[in-house]
Amino acid sequence: MRAYDPWKRRWLNVELNLPEQKEGLVACPTFFDMHTHVRLNGQEDYDSLEKAAIAGGFGAVLIQPNTNPELDNVDVLDAHLRLAQNKVVDFYWSVSLFGELEPDGKRTLCYSNDGIEYDTIKILNAFKRKRPHLVLDHSQMHELGGFFYEATPIDAPKRPICSEAVSIFRNVMFGLECGFKKFHIQHVSTKLSIETIEYLRKYAKVSCEVTPHHLFFNMNDVKNTNFKINPPLGTEHDRKALLEAVERDVIGVFATDHAPHAEKPDNFEKAPFGTSGIEIAFSAFYTATNRLEKTIEKLTVAPRKVLGIEGAFDPDNVTVIDPNFEWTVDTKKFHSKGKNCVFDGTKLKGRVVGVKRSGRWVYWDGEFFLDET
Ligand SMILES: [Zn+2]
Repeated sequence: MRAYDPWKRRWLNVELNLPEQKEGLVACPTFFDMHTHVRLNGQEDYDSLEKAAIAGGFGAVLIQPNTNPELDNVDVLDAHLRLAQNKVVDFYWSVSLFGELEPDGKRTLCYSNDGIEYDTIKILNAFKRKRPHLVLDHSQMHELGGFFYEATPIDAPKRPICSEAVSIFRNVMFGLECGFKKFHIQHVSTKLSIETIEYLRKYAKVSCEVTPHHLFFNMNDVKNTNFKINPPLGTEHDRKALLEAVERDVIGVFATDHAPHAEKPDNFEKAPFGTSGIEIAFSAFYTATNRLEKTIEKLTVAPRKVLGIEGAFDPDNVTVIDPNFEWTVDTKKFHSKGKNCVFDGTKLKGRVVGVKRSGRWVYWDGEFFLDET
């Protein structure tokens, strides 16, 4: 069958022994998500996340440190390592920029400040105190608060649309002055942020990612508390700038920011931030961009390159896709415990059909085969 090798950027013919023959299927390496939340607060655990990731075509994910409790010391890390044993998904972790841990380059790959509140003093002190490694940066002026960007037609606290770009500039410049050299800006949401990242590339290695929801929706689409996400949705002008930055490869990585929650309260003040979406990420990215090879590259090679993980096309570890299948998202069918998804009811194109891990089919057409591991 046809398979796309994103390392060499070429199509191949491979024999994969599919469980079932179907017209029009294509294969590619299993996806890598460098922005996943597992919670461990009853709302997502390693069992439910394993299934959700596999159903989404992901063979590896990088967990963010704002778990319950926070991933900032060796005891918590050991607990995560135990919980993630014997899974068909490869789990990696980012450790809190503010805690005791330093990335080991094997399982813990970088620092992250995602989901952790900080202000100008706290982030500067963290850069001063820690040994330099790659930093995943959730760029936010937390002291400003605000759930949505100014001009969003919702009656709730707002933050300036430039505040993400201001934080990107501040955090990268602070890090640089303290000897940090590599930065990865998470979930960029505005045109100004893209321009700031391009400017900062004169001084440092700065990669970045975008989520499916920021490529798909704008602030006028906010219709319920599932749309309370961080960073918020920008204007249509911003959304188009993000799509254009994907096209120019200024945005290298597609990441899910899978943020599962139990049903959110119908109140914007009380609802937590986040949308659950690892299961529909490929379809949403592909529908938003209509570019199959690019979507595969940004979900496979690009995150691995940022994190320093080598790889090559391997027919024993593949995701099989039906690029032409059209379907409507129904969050009730999610394997994740988080049913809070902004794509609920949205029609998407392209679907993950199967996943092969270490030479064995672990998922096919809605069914899991996980027992033998
Ligand atoms: Zn974040």
